[in-house]
This record gives sequence, C-alpha cells and structure tokens, in this order.
Amino acid sequence: MKTIQLASLLGDGIGPDIVHSTMRVLQQAGHNNGVDIEFAVLPSGLAAVETEGGTLPESTIKELPHYPGWILGPVSHHVYPQGDRRYINPSAYLRKRFELYANIRPSQAFEGVPSVRSDVDLVIVRENTEGFYADRNVLDGNGEFRPNEDTVISLRVVSRRASIRVAQQAFLLAQRRHRARKVTAVHKANVLRKGDGLFLECCRQVASEYPDITLEDYHVDAFAMYLLTKPQEFDVVVTTNMFGDILSDEAAGLVGGLGMAPGLNAGDNYAMAQATHGSAPDIEHLHVANPVSEILSGKLLLEWLSEQKSMPELREAALGVQQAVARTLAEGTQLTPDLGGKASTEDMTKSILGKL
Ligand code: NAD
Repeated sequence: MKTIQLASLLGDGIGPDIVHSTMRVLQQAGHNNGVDIEFAVLPSGLAAVETEGGTLPESTIKELPHYPGWILGPVSHHVYPQGDRRYINPSAYLRKRFELYANIRPSQAFEGVPSVRSDVDLVIVRENTEGFYADRNVLDGNGEFRPNEDTVISLRVVSRRASIRVAQQAFLLAQRRHRARKVTAVHKANVLRKGDGLFLECCRQVASEYPDITLEDYHVDAFAMYLLTKPQEFDVVVTTNMFGDILSDEAAGLVGGLGMAPGLNAGDNYAMAQATHGSAPDIEHLHVANPVSEILSGKLLLEWLSEQKSMPELREAALGVQQAVARTLAEGTQLTPDLGGKASTEDMTKSILGKL
C-alpha cells in the first residue's frame, strides 16, 4: 500500500459536513486502488478563533507546505470583521500566498440532475491571484479605499505573468484526451482596453505555442448570454478573476446549482480542492448540504496529484469517485433537497461510499 498525506481545513457553515464527507470518499477510493490517503485536519475558520486566535493561524500556514494537496471548506467571510487581523479570509490568502493561480471550475451535466441540456461539459479556468479583488492586489493594506464620504476607488491589477500562466493552464487542459481542443477567452477588451487588452494579448501569445488548439474570444457580456443559449459549444474557457467568479456560478446553474459546482485552485507546487460556493448560512445547521461539490473538488485534486506525483493509482481513484457520484445521482433515491430529494449530507455520502 502506498501512502499520501494531505491536509484539510474544514471552514465554516456547511464546510465541516462536506469536507468530512470528501475525506471519507477520497480515503475509500484511495484504498480501493492501493493508496492510503491520510488527512491532517488543521485549525481554520471561526472555530479556530477561540482555540488558536485566528481564522488562519500561523501554525496552519506553516504546516500546509508539508502537504502537496489540501481541501478547504467554504468560509463565512461575510461575518469576519473588517480590519481585524485575526480574521484572515483563508480562501483568498492561501490562493495568493501559495500562488494557486488557476481556479479550475468544471460544469458537467449528470443523469438524474435537472440540467438545461444533457451535453453540457465545460470548464472555466479563472485567474485566481489578482484582478478586481481588493484583498489580493496590493502587498500591504487593501486595494479598495475611500478618499471621501461619497467616493470609493477600487484597484484592478492585470499582469502579463499572471495572464500567461493561467492561459497556459487552460491550453494544457484543452489538450487532454476527452476535451474538444478549443479554448474560449472571455474579456472586456473593447472597454477595458489596457487591462483586458493585455489579458487577451497573453492568451493569443500562448495560443501560438499550441497550433493544434483553436482560440476564440468573446466579450464577457455576450458570453454571459451564450453560456445560457449554447453552453454545449464551450469547452475550456479562460478569463480574469471576477468574470470567472460570476460566470462559474452561472455555469453551475446550468447543471443543478451550486451543490454540483466543484473547483480546484492549482499552482505549480500545491493544489487546493474547494467547492465553488460559500458556507450556505441558510442551511448551515440542517446537515442537508449537497456534498457533491466538495467531493468532485477532491476528485480534481486526486487527478492533479496523480500527474504531479506520477501516481496512476490516484487517477483510477478519481475515476472511481466520478463513477460513484454519477451512479448515486442517476439512481436518485439519496439526493439532498437542492436536487429535489430528502436525503441528508450523511445519507448521500453513504450512498456514494457504497457505490465505490
Ligand atoms: P453561498 O454559495 O453560500 O449560498 C448560495 C445559495 O446556494 C444558498 O441558498 C445555499 O444554501 C446554496 N448552496 C451553496 N452550497 C450548497 C450545497 N453544497 N448544497 C446545497 N445548497 C448549497 O453564497 P452566499 O450566501 O452568497 O455566501 C455565504 C457566505 O459564504 C458569505 O460569507 C460569503 O462571503 C462566503 N463565500 C465563501 C466562499 C468560499 O469560501 N470560497 C465563496 C463564496 C462565498
């Protein structure tokens, strides 16, 4: 039996429920393929404020680089007091600090889940370290400031380095066997001529290194409509941070909603599985969150680790997870309320485990 050690941060709200489900599913899938997957649960989120003095304690930041892959649960960032240094947003901080520059967010239709079309299978690659996110784009302080009562200025950063590396990830993904060998760059270069102009220029530069892959591009406003009217025509989509944030939630809505929306924050050295959605305060004490978003995020992590560590067993484990999720959804008897069922997070997790 081979062993691999990973770290997990439970987050807030529904985070602990869906991260525990994910750890159990990944461990079972690993075991089935000869890999013992061990998890170190590191303090994070609101629970860590009392015990460790902050939502992302220094001990957790120091410990994480000992593990090649991490799972992060969603965090209740809206209740973190602004300006209080104990309340770091783990999601934003870890993406930036460890240069997890590509946020890979697939949207795929599954049998048994209401979708606009049965053939939606696209992936949005969102730039993850700069753009319009004020907590990411300055070294110290915050890129959003208020010079007087009636004015706010928000800084947006677009750099050549970040645009090139995220575009490279998109083209690498587009080369995979089951993909359609097409990348769609989404931007607003007709108005934001400098920022989005640079982003588009970088996408074209990277495209010239991949003559077997087609690059097309859309203005973000038109793309938001086409994503609804012809989603089946898109395959790998690459875009800047805020556009990717918004469009990936829209894409999740095409295939069953946020409970079906996985994500992976990938860098050159580390990757962090993290569902697209937030901590779902409206259902946080009900134990009915759909665990599939986080479980499929874990599956993306296994695929990434399989390549990084040259461990084909992990790719097989990932395939097992995908099939067990698909069979549970198709069977339709253990679905959480967001998918029209009555099952709890635990019921659905047990069903997926049973099918592994
Ligand atoms: P949200 O994504 O938490 O919830 C939106 C809707 O989707 C809610 O109705 C919720 O019940 C539903 N939903 C989300 N995940 C689900 C799941 N797995 N199963 C079933 N239903 C699910 O968005 P919000 O309400 O705007 O934000 C809540 C909190 O999460 C805020 O503090 C926000 O800042 C934070 N947030 C965190 C992240 C992150 O940690 N990556 C991302 C987005 C929002």
